[in-house]
Amino acid sequence: MRPYCSSCAYPIQTCLCAHIVHIQNPIKIKILQHPKEAKHALNTVHIARLCLENIEVRSAFLTHHEYTTWLQDCALIFPHPQSKPLPKDYRGSLVFIDATWPKARGIFRYNPALKQIPCYHLVDPPKGEYRIRKTRTESNLSTLEAMVAALRYLENDPLRYQPLIDAFRARIDGQIQHMGDAVFIKNYLS
Ligand SMILES: [Zn+2]
Repeated sequence: MRPYCSSCAYPIQTCLCAHIVHIQNPIKIKILQHPKEAKHALNTVHIARLCLENIEVRSAFLTHHEYTTWLQDCALIFPHPQSKPLPKDYRGSLVFIDATWPKARGIFRYNPALKQIPCYHLVDPPKGEYRIRKTRTESNLSTLEAMVAALRYLENDPLRYQPLIDAFRARIDGQIQHMGDAVFIKNYLS
């Protein structure tokens, strides 16, 4: 068995601890996670959990009652034809669906509770940097990048959450090194 770091839970060879910074985010982040994401080696919510103090992760398979209770005072960040731009003065909790794009759409479609809370999309989202996975949104943003973009926008602070992006980049670089250039070029660049 591969040895794992007891702090960040990544394999020792790709330990991320040197990049982990703890940040107290005033706007709470809530994640509805597809169970497959929880186990995925390249899941970005795991990095966000290591860095953010105010984050809660739940399985996306909740009962309707659990959904309605958990979603109180929340808004969903999910781009779709009826979503509105995230208001600059929004201060409630932000919910993100952590799943591949088709699965995220399914979770949204089949959970009426998600349609009863405000639904926003990011204003002027950045370009995604996820080079080694197909991502969750059409704009190619990982869940971590989407939550950093939202927090930056609402707090008007472009630098505060940069350590999450740096840790995310370090994770991708570590993973590419680990798989070797040949595999990376074959699977992700061709
Ligand atoms: Zn570690």
